Amino acid sequence: MAPIVIIDAGHGGVDPGGGNSAQFTEKAMTLNISLYQYRRFQELQIPAALTRSSDVTLQSEDRTAVVRNSGARYCISNHINSGGGRGTEVIYSIYSSAAFPRLIAEELEAEGVPNRRIFTRTLPNNPKQDYYYMNRETGSVETVIIEYGFADNPVDADKIAKDWQSLAEAVIRAFCEYANLTYRPPQTNPPAAGGGGNANPGSGNGIPSTGGGSDVPDWKQEAIDWLFEQGLLTNEDWRNKADTPLPLWAEAVILKRLYEKLKS
Ligand SMILES: [Zn+2]
Repeated sequence: MAPIVIIDAGHGGVDPGGGNSAQFTEKAMTLNISLYQYRRFQELQIPAALTRSSDVTLQSEDRTAVVRNSGARYCISNHINSGGGRGTEVIYSIYSSAAFPRLIAEELEAEGVPNRRIFTRTLPNNPKQDYYYMNRETGSVETVIIEYGFADNPVDADKIAKDWQSLAEAVIRAFCEYANLTYRPPQTNPPAAGGGGNANPGSGNGIPSTGGGSDVPDWKQEAIDWLFEQGLLTNEDWRNKADTPLPLWAEAVILKRLYEKLKS
């Protein structure tokens, strides 16, 4: 079956990319992200392809030919930025709309990386052609270039090194929303509880415990788990923080997702 989406891990082989930090190289991190997204699309039964699945060199002509000939309608090209900045950037073609880039930026923002800009860029001598070859040479495929953050910004670099899976997942959510395909969050194992008690439904009596701080009663944990099941809360860090207040932006994201869900 022809893929709907093709995932492009930027750079590779002799080309490490420019977005390198002490913790990762751009070519390795974009491959991590791309392979993760490929697996997730398989789980969601969304036909997907990759431009590369290992550390190989791809010339730009070969890369764009793979995309053009893939039969896919969309291409997600993964990159890590550098050069003094902070946050995500999404670059799209002058021949497509900003709708998908906006959703990507929103979902990445929900994971804690602010958006720096969403933009198109044309060749200096030809305003009818895209500047970046992934936008210019991929034919009718709708290609977005995603820069997940700046490798030379310590906050971005730490976030990418630690949470790249959440960032990769954010793009899956954005894609499903944009392409109008059913999204389901990844299968997660129940949190490992010391006493093994809190994954047991029905044992909660609905009465808030006044006991020890880390011993979260079932009714609290079940409510939190429900948020994840529904895709309303996605950053796994929150799963074990029952008594930690969410920042306002995160509450806003949850309400917005709930609203979108009810509306559709
Ligand atoms: Zn790059």
